[in-house]
Parts: sequence; structure tokens; C-alpha cells
Amino acid sequence: MSSEKRRLIAGNWKMNGSIQDANDFMDAFGGNPAPDHVEVALMPPFTLLHPMSDRLASIGVALGAQNVYYEDKGAFTGSICPMMLRDAGCHYVILGHSERRSIIGESNAQIRNKMNASWLHGLEPILCIGETLEQREKGITNAVLAEQLAILKGAPRDAALTVAYEPVWAIGTGVTASVDQVTETHAFIHEELNRLGHDCRVLYGGSVNPGNAEDLMACPGVEGALVGGASLKADSFMEIVKAAVKAAS
Ligand code: PEP
Repeated sequence: MSSEKRRLIAGNWKMNGSIQDANDFMDAFGGNPAPDHVEVALMPPFTLLHPMSDRLASIGVALGAQNVYYEDKGAFTGSICPMMLRDAGCHYVILGHSERRSIIGESNAQIRNKMNASWLHGLEPILCIGETLEQREKGITNAVLAEQLAILKGAPRDAALTVAYEPVWAIGTGVTASVDQVTETHAFIHEELNRLGHDCRVLYGGSVNPGNAEDLMACPGVEGALVGGASLKADSFMEIVKAAVKAAS
């Protein structure tokens, strides 16, 4: 299942990190150990994009943002447009993270607007999808994921895209989806993506850590990870990168 795709390990720092933290991280992180097999990317908060950009590039780590607004410029106080992210050296932008869907109230329609704007300016969206525990227990996981993926209808088939399956109940909770759940759900997501005309990488996200990364990265249909908490420390992030390298080789 798409085993030829280069895996991606992406670190989402969320609303964490000072300049000092960023420098400490980059001093300790040795760089991408296997760029042929695995791509490494980091998504720090907006304030750290410029300060981290050159140094991350020099150690083979791509840069991404955690959000973007869909207008090009103007009276949108507090917002950041795609061109500003490109200017700061970003390749990726996380869209539709469950924290933005549930806390900020972001809708699928807004996420699609952000996606279009990102593509227009050469950013690669990492589209996050995932079900809540209640939805899983009701047996409607696939329906929820299909609805979240439906925003890809009519999108250019060759548009740069990565999808991250992040069960909401596994994010920041220390609870990870089982290997069977991950395998089964990734198979459904790949099927749905193929139906929509997209053959992109699908990452797993939700409490990935050095202790579970090897098993998760070995699941069929998993082509990398979106990592929150464990990406804040260089050593734990590197362990996860190494697990992906092992799974890829
Ligand atoms: C995330 O922020 O996307 C995430 C998966 O967080 P954590 O790894 O901390 O669960």
C-alpha cells in the first residue's frame, strides 16, 4: 500500500516554545539521519518560524505552520496568510487539527478555503481528520472520516497533500489506537482517498512516543506520524524518526 512514498515525521509544537527552547532543541537534534527514507518536519508556533527556518533547513528538517488564514492580505487582525508562511520558509501547514475544530469551531468549509489558499501559494497542507471517542463507540468512525475527507471533492488530483489520521481520543491523552484499529482505519482512509482521486501519504497521530513508534510505524498504510508532546524534546523526537527509518528500510 503505497510503500514507495517517503515517510514523514512531523512535530507539532502547538502553543509551546520560546526562542531559548528552539535553540536548545536545534542544538540537541542531530538532523535528519536518513533523508532518502524519511522526511522530518517541525511545526513550531508562528513566532518561531523565522528564527528556526535557516537552521532547520541546514539540518534537513522542513518547516511548517500550525494554521493559516485564506485571504491574501488586508484587515484580518491576528491572521497570517499563506504568502507570509512561504516568506518564513514554510513548506507545510497543518489544517483541521482537532483542537482547532473543537476549541475554535473551525468548519470543514473553512478548512477547504484554507486548503485552496495554501495550494495557491505552494504550501502542502497536512489535513487532520479523526473521530471522537463517542463517535467510535457509536460505530460511525468511517462515516465521520468520509465526511471530513469529502472536502477534497473537486480538488486538483495532483495537489500536494498529506493526510493525518488523529483519533481525537488519542491526542495528548497517552492513549494510543491499537495496531488493529490503526491498520483498519488507515485502510479505509486510503480507499476513500483513492475514490476521491488522491494517492497521498497518510500519517498516524495521537500519543506517538518512543515506546510505541516502532509498532505504529510498522502498521500497513501508515506512512509517518504527526507527533505532539513527544516532538518537544529532541531526543524523544529523534527516537520516533529512527523508528520510521527502521520501518522504511
Ligand atoms: C497532535 O498534536 O497532533 C498530537 C498528535 O499530539 P500528541 O502526540 O501529544 O498526542
